[in-house]
Amino acid sequence: MAETTRSDMPVEEFRRFGHQVVEWIADYLAEIERYPVLARVRPGEIRERLPAHPPVEGEPFEAILRDFERIVLPGITHWNHPGFMAYFAITGSGPGILGELLAAALNVNAMLWKTSPAATELEQVVLDWLRQMLGLPPEFEGIIYDTASISSLCALAAAREAVGLGVREEGLAGRAELPRLRLYTSEEAHSSIEKGAIVLGLGQAGVRKIPTDEAFRMDVKALERAIEEDRAAGWRPFCVVATVGTTSTTSIDPVAEIARVCERSGLWLHVDAAYAGAAAIVPEFRHVLEGCERADSLVVNPHKWLFTPIDLSAFYCRRMDVLRRAFSLVPEYLRTEEDEVRNFMDYGPQLGRRFRALKLWMVIRYFGREGLAARIREHIRLAQHFAAWVDADPDFERLAPTPLSTVCFRARPRGWALSEAELDRFNEALLEAVNVTGECFLSHTRVRGQLALRLAIGNVRTSERHVRRAWELLRAHAARLQAEWPRA
Ligand SMILES: *Cc1c(COP(=O)(O)O)cnc(C)c1O
Repeated sequence: MAETTRSDMPVEEFRRFGHQVVEWIADYLAEIERYPVLARVRPGEIRERLPAHPPVEGEPFEAILRDFERIVLPGITHWNHPGFMAYFAITGSGPGILGELLAAALNVNAMLWKTSPAATELEQVVLDWLRQMLGLPPEFEGIIYDTASISSLCALAAAREAVGLGVREEGLAGRAELPRLRLYTSEEAHSSIEKGAIVLGLGQAGVRKIPTDEAFRMDVKALERAIEEDRAAGWRPFCVVATVGTTSTTSIDPVAEIARVCERSGLWLHVDAAYAGAAAIVPEFRHVLEGCERADSLVVNPHKWLFTPIDLSAFYCRRMDVLRRAFSLVPEYLRTEEDEVRNFMDYGPQLGRRFRALKLWMVIRYFGREGLAARIREHIRLAQHFAAWVDADPDFERLAPTPLSTVCFRARPRGWALSEAELDRFNEALLEAVNVTGECFLSHTRVRGQLALRLAIGNVRTSERHVRRAWELLRAHAARLQAEWPRA
């Protein structure tokens, strides 16, 4: 506890607890499988165990660490557990965790170049390294934001600025002379696109969802028809958001064809490759970003499938001047003399910025391009194995193609006539049964209206043993549930 009213934790105390915390982290990572992957607490349980009021006096750090283990830890769902296969699995890798630790220690605010030149320049360099690994052209420059949701929001703001309707100056409300703006994305696109439209005042009506083909990819003919129809009805189409790796099934929109439509119609093309973009680092999967070299902007999340602790979203844009026009607003107290430098505060809504580039730099250097590619390749291989087991089992079926490391499937016990609604309930029960084991954690989605179980591989610690175990648990619990299922 702080000794005087003026000082920080004494350096010697910091050193002692710093060692202790690093030891704790090392043990945690080594023994992660001792924890149930999904937290076993009921709503409100953690809160009830915490005091309702802040401490009046400082407390010893031992006591704080004790409560971290005793109270906080039981309420943690372990994203670093190799059995974590829900949503999109992520990794807090060793080099990434150390990078976060150092960034916290430096505690720089990378708003202007001069408020930490290394933070800005490392951000530019590391984004360029990643760009090269992804095979994108050098015209793509970038900025690191916290999440893909914010990256896409900023892309939409830039796309709107590019139209030149003076929204920045005059706003949208009460301007009868303005056409209504519309953007296009597929029915399978991430909800962040629609949220972005809500935030920007375009409204949900400003988003037109384009149907998808049998493999859940945007139907480009339908896109073209929608744009024509809207033009005729007085809308002003301004942007298309294509998805490389949709959230439900990881389908990949035909970006090259979509780019052709955008070029012809003068629309901004933004690509949401939050999860799947990382696969382009693997030479055999470079094709996932085919056509993206023609996009105006693109987002990929190293905090998803590139072993970088959350949060870090890499946003690329070939028209940084437009992005700047959308956001730059410099009050006198932030004016600087250097005009040849990049001040990242000019390229987004936030002023203060964490030094996120440091952890990505450490991750890329530690694993190297080949090391990153090998790990991603292995995740895809494991998911393809799992998909093959599902296909070979007469009591299971796959509900979508598996282009990358995510499998959508369900149990459908042979010779057992269940209605679709009952099959949904059966699979919900199966998901619950498997997740309460604490050995693995899967999530679900709906695919063409059917409840699908969803297994996504993306944690660097997940190996074949863990995927096999998930499959064993699924089969065993499906058999047990079927035996116990109430018969009508
Ligand atoms: C995960 C994901 C997002 C959201 O990412 P955040 O960084 O959490 O905002 C958006 N789009 C796609 C395709 C995703 O997979």
